[in-house]
Amino acid sequence: MNADDTTGLPPAPEVVQIEVGLLQNFCEILYCPETRAAAIVDPAWEVDVLLREASKLDLKVELALITHTHNDHIEGVDELVDKTGAMVVVNAREAQAVHAGGRALFDARDGRDIAIGRRGVRALETRGHTVGGTCYLADGYVVTGDVLFVGGCGRTDFQGGDTAAMWQSLQRLMRLPEETRVYPGHNYGETATSTIGHETRTNPYLRCATFEEFRALRERKRKA
Ligand SMILES: [Zn+2]
Repeated sequence: MNADDTTGLPPAPEVVQIEVGLLQNFCEILYCPETRAAAIVDPAWEVDVLLREASKLDLKVELALITHTHNDHIEGVDELVDKTGAMVVVNAREAQAVHAGGRALFDARDGRDIAIGRRGVRALETRGHTVGGTCYLADGYVVTGDVLFVGGCGRTDFQGGDTAAMWQSLQRLMRLPEETRVYPGHNYGETATSTIGHETRTNPYLRCATFEEFRALRERKRKA
């Protein structure tokens, strides 16, 4: 089965979006309303806030899902693992950047379904911002890390960045159903979330007709 084929997806977890830290990072709590199992995406900056929210919702945090290993997305992983025993899910290409208290990591390899109670998400490898960048696709939404922002996309000039890979990753995201809600890794846009259809129509990086056009735009704008 094609990893982009959303028909085989497990039912989507509920999602709570929380902004943390001084770099406008977004974390998400994804949870199963039946079993109360939860995953936290990119735990950083204010793990206490994330855990308080999880506890308010009566959730058991079992997983940390990592979109990529820039420090602003993972600096809370150790604290989260210490406090919850959560297993860390990260692409093998970036696993060396995660300590997780020496505990085993779960490889977010492309197309892999990750259960969160009776719900689940699918890992989509989306390189370009980093070498092992991963989006997490659920039935109806996608958590995009620093690959796709509302009105923007991640930089490709950091170590491990690759502008051609980023272009391919964005093309891949654009093939998702247009009503798919986008949960980005930073609050850089006019709204906190968007949809694939809205971004396809309005995001200048997704409106580029060719890779050459995209590369020129990406090189002109150094942000995120
Ligand atoms: Zn980043």
